[in-house]
Amino acid sequence: RAKALGKGRYAIFDREMYDRTLHLSQLEIDLRYALERQEFLLHYQPIISVATGRLTGFEALLRWQHPKMGLIDPGDFIEIAEETGLIVPIGEWILQEACQQLYIWQQKFATTSLYISVNLSSKQIQQFDLVDKLAKILDRTGLNGKNLKLELTETMLMDRGEKTIELLFQIKEQNIQLSIDDFGTGYSSLSYLHRFPIDALKIDRSFVSPIDAEGKNCEIVRTIITLAHTLGIKAIAEGVETSHQLAVLKKLGCDEAQGYFFGTPVNFQLAEEILVKNV
Ligand code: C2E
Ligand code: MG
Ligand code: MG
Ligand code: MG
Repeated sequence: RAKALGKGRYAIFDREMYDRTLHLSQLEIDLRYALERQEFLLHYQPIISVATGRLTGFEALLRWQHPKMGLIDPGDFIEIAEETGLIVPIGEWILQEACQQLYIWQQKFATTSLYISVNLSSKQIQQFDLVDKLAKILDRTGLNGKNLKLELTETMLMDRGEKTIELLFQIKEQNIQLSIDDFGTGYSSLSYLHRFPIDALKIDRSFVSPIDAEGKNCEIVRTIITLAHTLGIKAIAEGVETSHQLAVLKKLGCDEAQGYFFGTPVNFQLAEEILVKNV
């Protein structure tokens, strides 16, 4: 394909490829040391109750403070972390950190109802000792399982069928909550969906964003909310950016919402300021 661009372009294209490869593998090398060098941190994005406007919890989102490149979003390195398997130890750190932070807030502000939502990767749910590790983390941090929520994607759940159902029930035994992230973008078998012990569907941003001031384009969101309520679980809208979208979600009976309209993901100090206003 490079050759088809002509002789002159060949060298340039090749050079770009070379640079990109070099860049990627450097990031991969750096990623191997990032945990021990304590370069990871969590940002927290508020999740609110649509009916009351009050804070219900935070989603913990991974950030990497790279020594040369500055603060990096997960989109730029999660894939490498998954391909290399590094996501397993990193994911354990994320769980530990998130649970510990919420426990500290619970002690400091005498609040027990807030939850912390943590994204899991497919590599993590394939680990035979995930249930064990979750129990240890709850034990070490002192957090009650009911205050921890795990986010899984449809693909992660559907890929392994019956095995997954068993795993989810084991997780639920610790009172941990489960939600399906980016719902609507993957493939869900309805026959499985009603057998999974899940607590919430998170409606993907791509269905929330197109809702306009007149409330148009809300059919998919309405359908997912109905589905959630039919299953007896909650619907949480992601990527809410305008008051119009919130008003439509309220009318549709959506339970919780998250997005820039309420707040971007922020470091723990700023998250604490949000929390203080809500207790
Ligand atoms: P996600 O779990 O669906 O997280 C929501 C993403 O949407 C976050 O991006 C958040 O900053 C962004 N977002 C929130 N509200 C809005 C909004 O109103 N508008 C727009 N345009 N964006 C909004 P972020 O933090 O870059 O994370 C991207 C993805 O990386 C996450 O998607 C999740 O799949 C993954 N990720 C993040 N943290 C972790 C983690 O700790 N572990 C694992 N395994 N994956 C993670
Ligand atoms: Mg998520
Ligand atoms: Mg996601
Ligand atoms: Mg999402």
